[in-house]
Amino acid sequence: MILTIISIKVFMNLSFDSAFEKYVDDSNRAEVKHLMFDLKHIYKDGSWDINTIKELGEDAIYKGIALEIYDKDKKLVWSIFEDEKVLSNITLKKISEDMQSIDNKWNDKFSEYKLEVKDENGEVVGYPYIGHYASTYYMENDMEFFKIMNKYMLLIGFMSITGIIIISIIISKSISNPIAKVSKMTKVIEKGNYKDKLNYKSNIKEVDELILSINKLASALNQQEKLRKRLTTDISHELRTPITSIKGHLDVIIAGIWEPTTERLISINEEVSRMNNLIDELGRLAKYDSENEELEIEKIDLAKLLKNIVFNLESKAMEKEIYIECELQEIKISADKKKIYQVLVNIISNAIKYTGEKGKIYIKTYNDDEYINISIKDNGIGIPVEDINHIFERFYRVDKSRNKETGGIGVGLTIAKSIIEKHKGNIIVRSDISKGSEFIIRLPNKLDSNDKRHLN
Ligand code: ADP
Repeated sequence: MILTIISIKVFMNLSFDSAFEKYVDDSNRAEVKHLMFDLKHIYKDGSWDINTIKELGEDAIYKGIALEIYDKDKKLVWSIFEDEKVLSNITLKKISEDMQSIDNKWNDKFSEYKLEVKDENGEVVGYPYIGHYASTYYMENDMEFFKIMNKYMLLIGFMSITGIIIISIIISKSISNPIAKVSKMTKVIEKGNYKDKLNYKSNIKEVDELILSINKLASALNQQEKLRKRLTTDISHELRTPITSIKGHLDVIIAGIWEPTTERLISINEEVSRMNNLIDELGRLAKYDSENEELEIEKIDLAKLLKNIVFNLESKAMEKEIYIECELQEIKISADKKKIYQVLVNIISNAIKYTGEKGKIYIKTYNDDEYINISIKDNGIGIPVEDINHIFERFYRVDKSRNKETGGIGVGLTIAKSIIEKHKGNIIVRSDISKGSEFIIRLPNKLDSNDKRHLN
């Protein structure tokens, strides 16, 4: 802003000066011409009319023009410097001072014209001497004009700069205040206080979005933190229970109180198996976390794969007298066989785990325009509405108290979802508490070779 104002001032002064100088030059020349014309008519009947010359001379000096007249014998008739000494001195001095005050490079140069006046017969009757300051000189009015113009320029400059400073302060405050608040919030999160939320609304859309993202980040971290803490308690609890039981059994056997009968050894073995299961689950999770390998896409006969899985899980289902019914279409899918197998095992074994005795599981495959659908429906315990959105989260379990039968640690669905998403599909869940749940795995119908290359 300051630069702009300075450039405007410099530009205006330069262009104004040169235009004004030209104007003054032109008007000087016109004045001299006029004076010459008047002088011709003053010489009458062989002599100069001193009174009229005096009038002309006094009038001219106010315009910065000095006049002297010599007769044909070069004898002085009238001179502003001689006859009006005081007036000429004051006027010329004032002009000189005014010019110096505006332009200190002004050099005081005086232009002189030595001319001749001839009568009607063409005879020289006198020699006027006319002088004025070369080019620019400023009269009273011009000076006033210059002063006012400079005053207004200064005023405009001052007002603009003040305005710009005020606006800049307001704008920078309105941006920096919310950012400072957001940065304070991130420091709170950095210290591990994930529960704190930033309840602040700025007028800037981008900052509001940033606040929203940070709040979401904080609550996601909070959730993860809770899960991590719960997992540590769960694991220690899960490991302690079988170990206490095994140790109890072994202590009494070593003390000779109990005989090491087959029955007791089987019970100890069961506890060891539980521990083994848990360690397997943790291993599965660790593997899932570290793996980021490419999918090995191949054509799979979906009906055959599902029949195979049902066959393998049948014994578990039979323990609870659960009946599994299948309605499988002849569908071929392009997918990573091992991974899809794992997804189906996770979801079907969940259906068995969370369905009561004599329950029913219904597995159906069908094709629609976009997806190949695999529906696994049970009439088990169902999932409460408030939990449905969380069951795919890592370590999330609806029933936080762990029991012998279900025994999972809440990673099966997390892994399933991630695998299906890698195949560009998704999983839909519908559930009614105490009526049952339905998991629909949807895999894209047209997984062409181009897509396959990008799946990783
Ligand atoms: P888990 O090892 O605990 O089974 P999952 O990730 O497979 O972990 O499932 C997460 C949670 O979702 C389970 O703990 C259970 O509460 C709920 N769930 C999953 N499938 C079913 C189902 N078919 N019926 C009822 N609840 C289910």
